[in-house]
Amino acid sequence: MTKHLIFAVDIGGTTCKLGIFDKNLTRLKKWAIKTDTSDPTGRQLLKKIYDAFIEQCDMLNYKLDDVIGMGIGVPGPVNFDAGIVNGAVNLNWPGKVNVVQLMSEFVDFPVVVDNDANIAALGEKHLGAGKDADDVVAITLGTGVGGGIISNGKIVHGHNGSGAELGHIRVDHEQRFDCNCGKAGCIETVASATGVVNLVNYYHPKLSIQSQLRPLIKSGDVTAKDVFDAAKLGDSFSLFIVEKIAQYIAYLASILSVTVNPKYIILGGGMADAGHILLENVKTAYYQLAFTPSQEGTEIVSASLGNEAGIVGAAGLIKTYIIEQER
Ligand SMILES: [Zn+2]
Repeated sequence: MTKHLIFAVDIGGTTCKLGIFDKNLTRLKKWAIKTDTSDPTGRQLLKKIYDAFIEQCDMLNYKLDDVIGMGIGVPGPVNFDAGIVNGAVNLNWPGKVNVVQLMSEFVDFPVVVDNDANIAALGEKHLGAGKDADDVVAITLGTGVGGGIISNGKIVHGHNGSGAELGHIRVDHEQRFDCNCGKAGCIETVASATGVVNLVNYYHPKLSIQSQLRPLIKSGDVTAKDVFDAAKLGDSFSLFIVEKIAQYIAYLASILSVTVNPKYIILGGGMADAGHILLENVKTAYYQLAFTPSQEGTEIVSASLGNEAGIVGAAGLIKTYIIEQER
């Protein structure tokens, strides 16, 4: 029997999701281990991941000789071609970590590494909302805003790996809020969970719209979830905020639609989970904004894999870059 197993790793700040897939991306086993952040060189964590696979393979009677490759997702910027992570704050990796080189000390099959937003997009492309399409954009709306672009079936990395850093497109030209990146006005400052709170605190004193959120806003405890929940109940101020956020996301989507002409623009992350109210508002704003020929046939949809997108995408790295490459 030829090689038929894929190892997949989705490294997060607290846990690492691990999976063994077959070459059609059917999952044979999934489990998780605690993320070891004690070693800033990364070697210790990668060794523990390797050990976890060895242990699992022993139990399942799988042979390392049957492994096609290992795909790894990391929460930090990645130089894809070099296999190097350029620091990852959540992993206590302050400097560069050559993940491919370190893991290759333990294994003799190919190792492919990419950042978490890119693998989430690839996961949605393979098994999720972008299934069967080769041109897909995924926008992750969480604490920050992340993104991944799949064009002609491949992840767009750019010349130094910063392609699809969608969170830092400037959409607020007044630059009212500072971004973590050092600039201001990025979409992350108005369309992430933090961004929602920014907008609430900005508009609430200026508008005379009543809101059931007033006590929470006054005490500084309002969250993005409160805003979406209130909007669903018809709270006018919250609806105003949701429309604002939707306009920013639609603006980003309209830029993407003329740039890469995706079949699907997939909204994922904690904010998208808030339900249809955001999605419907984004669709409405998008169809008003987008250039008609490029929006034809482009659908704005919700992500369907949730937290599983990363591990599926990590396995997808091997399918896309090793298996399909060899055909
Ligand atoms: Zn920024």
